[in-house]
Amino acid sequence: MTRYAIIGAGLAGLVSAHEIRKADPEAVIHVFEAEDRIGGKLHTVPFDSGPTDMGAEAYLALRSDATDFFTELGLGDDLVSPSGARSLVYSEGELHGLPAGGVMGIPSSSAPVADIVSAGTAARIDAEGDAPDIDWVVGGDASVGKLVSERYGAEVTDRIVSALLGGVYSCAAEDLGIRATIPQLAEALDELATAGEKVTLSAAVRLCESRRTPRDPGSTPTPVFATFRHGYAQVYETLAETSGADIHLDAFVAGVTRDLRGYHLKGPGVVTDAPYDRLLVTAPAPTTAVLLKDVAPAASAALKSVKLASSVVVGMKFDSDTGLPDNSGVLVAIGEPGVQAKAFTFSSKKWPHVGERGGALVRASFGRFGDDALVRAEEDLLVDAALDDLQHITGFDGRAAGLSEIYVQRWFGGLPRYDETHLATVAAVREGVAGVPGLEVSGAWAGGVGVPAVIDDARAAVARLIQVG
Ligand SMILES: Cc1cc2nc3c(=O)[nH]c(=O)nc-3n(C[C@H](O)[C@H](O)[C@H](O)COP(=O)(O)OP(=O)(O)OC[C@H]3O[C@@H](n4cnc5c(N)ncnc54)[C@H](O)[C@@H]3O)c2cc1C
Repeated sequence: MTRYAIIGAGLAGLVSAHEIRKADPEAVIHVFEAEDRIGGKLHTVPFDSGPTDMGAEAYLALRSDATDFFTELGLGDDLVSPSGARSLVYSEGELHGLPAGGVMGIPSSSAPVADIVSAGTAARIDAEGDAPDIDWVVGGDASVGKLVSERYGAEVTDRIVSALLGGVYSCAAEDLGIRATIPQLAEALDELATAGEKVTLSAAVRLCESRRTPRDPGSTPTPVFATFRHGYAQVYETLAETSGADIHLDAFVAGVTRDLRGYHLKGPGVVTDAPYDRLLVTAPAPTTAVLLKDVAPAASAALKSVKLASSVVVGMKFDSDTGLPDNSGVLVAIGEPGVQAKAFTFSSKKWPHVGERGGALVRASFGRFGDDALVRAEEDLLVDAALDDLQHITGFDGRAAGLSEIYVQRWFGGLPRYDETHLATVAAVREGVAGVPGLEVSGAWAGGVGVPAVIDDARAAVARLIQVG
């Protein structure tokens, strides 16, 4: 019987345990989790009004692999689609519809963003095609924010692109790499450069737009996002069960060593009866770097450079939703005076199954990489900031609407920063790990932060791990 140890019972760790069990029904699988609960950045809280997600609250359903995986888990009937209500951007004191077309808010012409940016910036966007070429190296990378600001001006970055990317990565666009976060744009830039064509941002965005498959007018569109009727707890609880793994909670792994007998784990709350033949580390990057120090020093050294972005989510249930806009939420532009939140999700408008519970459910998010003072703020201060910002932006008076439930979830180091060096770092870590028999790594820092990407990366890591020996 092969003995497997998995460090971390977040999505990556639990998917890995499930996949190992599928491939090897006899395997001994021990999962070590530092916290007193499983799920990691997936956390469904039992509000009186119904289960409420305080970490991830949806996944990108355009990729069918995650949906197929959840269906295989028996959760297909509990998948729900959003209402279709549109999201808004709050910029310069006004609400705007999310710009159509483009990639991640980067337009190919000024038309979709004309109501958000100044006339000067609109003219600059439209003239960008005539500016000197971008100094683009095929296969290279650059900061999203720097490139957009250089080509179109900082208004596009701060008012649109950072607002959109910040919602996914908890980072401003300056801190994110193009290839890691908008790969289709990096590929379009490669393609223009390889073909010897003029390399401009507008041309690259236009190329991305032209690649979009037009929808068959008679077909029902696949919803872009999906979630679970009873929250992500359905996923992590099902995975824990199907894996049949022995899950140790409050077990913080502080160190890993390897000898001829296998892998040894040590740390507070870590109790093991024998060494492990194979080890899968799914902790966040800085912790994984520490844990790999003795067993994969090169990988450990490479991984140290990955920084984390912290955020905090305030979940609020109101008795009434009168006055809350009929939208799925609001993304806030960088530097909006008098506003501290970076985004609001109007969950009861976004998800029909949540709307059916009555009243309003709103999630406020605060904190970006390098700007996370509020993540440490007292709870009453955070709730006040959430209520004040919500009223300031939408006019909805949450206090008058009757605030009946609150949950504050702080995500210290919630998401890895996917900057322009990130993909090279991941490649170096993978190379370092590949040379160590019976060792694998996975998690949000490795193959992408989104739920489908984390599942995919964990499955691939298990496939490699199973092949060993
Ligand atoms: C606020 C927020 C909102 C998000 N929203 C979405 C969304 O809507 N859609 C989407 O697709 N994605 C979303 N994401 C991203 C997604 O939730 C995460 O990328 C994913 O859940 C990460 O899974 P993971 O297993 O890699 O990491 P984690 O969930 O961080 O799991 C790692 C686990 O390892 C444990 N651990 C760490 N160190 C040790 C140690 N030394 N010993 C033992 N255990 C240890 C941790 O306690 C944790 O449980 C969101 C993330 C955040 C923070």
